Amino acid sequence: MSQKKRGLVIAIDGPSGAGKSTIAHLLAKRLGYLQIDTGAMYRAVAVLISRTALDLADLDAVQRFCADLNVRLETVAGCQKVFANGQEVTSQIRTAEVSVMTSRISALKPVRDALLLAQREMGRDGGVVLEGRDIGTVVFPDADLKFFLTASPEVRGKRRYDEMIARGEQVTLRETIEAAVQRDAQDTQRDIAPLKQADDAIAIDSSDIGIEDVVDRMEAFVREKTAQRESYS
Ligand code: C5P
Repeated sequence: MSQKKRGLVIAIDGPSGAGKSTIAHLLAKRLGYLQIDTGAMYRAVAVLISRTALDLADLDAVQRFCADLNVRLETVAGCQKVFANGQEVTSQIRTAEVSVMTSRISALKPVRDALLLAQREMGRDGGVVLEGRDIGTVVFPDADLKFFLTASPEVRGKRRYDEMIARGEQVTLRETIEAAVQRDAQDTQRDIAPLKQADDAIAIDSSDIGIEDVVDRMEAFVREKTAQRESYS
C-alpha cells in the first residue's frame, strides 16, 4: 500500500531558454512545493568532470566515476544551491563552457542512470515541480501533470543572452542563439532520454505570453487536478 502523497508530481520539460527554471520556481513557490532543477544537477556533474582527466569515451571509467556521485540541491533563503560530491558548485554551473560540457555528459548512460535514481528519490513523495528534458517521459512517466514549455529560438536565445550578460559573461546574441540551437539539437537527437514532448503533456508556448501568465495557466491546471484527486479519495 503506497503512502498518501503530500501533493502532485509536476513535470516541466522543454528546450533551453523556454523559461522552465523561472516558471518552475514561481509555480513551486505559489503551491508551497519543492522545485527540482534537474538541469542544475547535470551541470554540477559537468563541473566535476571538467576538473578531472576522465575520458568520456571510456564508459567503464565514467561508470566508476558515477558510482560515487552525489549531487544535492538545497534551498537556502529562497535560493537554490547545488552541491556535487560535497562541494558547492552553484556559482560555476551556468557558464557557456559548462553548458557545452553538460550537453556532452548528459548523453552518457552512467551519468543519466545515477541522476535518474537521485531525481526519483527526491520526487517520490510528491509536492514537487521537476524541470528538465525527460521528466515526463522517463523520470516520472506517471507524473500527475506534465507541461512542455517552448518558445521560438530567437526568444530563447535572447533570454539566455540576457541572463549571461547579467552574470557578467562576454557573449554575443548570435553566439548565444547558435549555442542554444546546437545544444537543443544534441539533447533532441541523443539515444538515451532525448528531449521530447510526452504524449500526455500540455504544451505551452511562452514566446508571446508573460511569465506570470504562464504560471497562472499552470496553476489553474494544478488546482483542477488537485480538486479531482480529492473528490476521488
Ligand atoms: O536546463 P538546463 O539548460 O540547465 O540543462 C542543461 C543541460 O542538461 C541540457 O542542455 C541537457 O543536456 C541536460 N539535461 C538533461 N536532462 C534533464 C535536464 C537537463 O539531459 N532532465
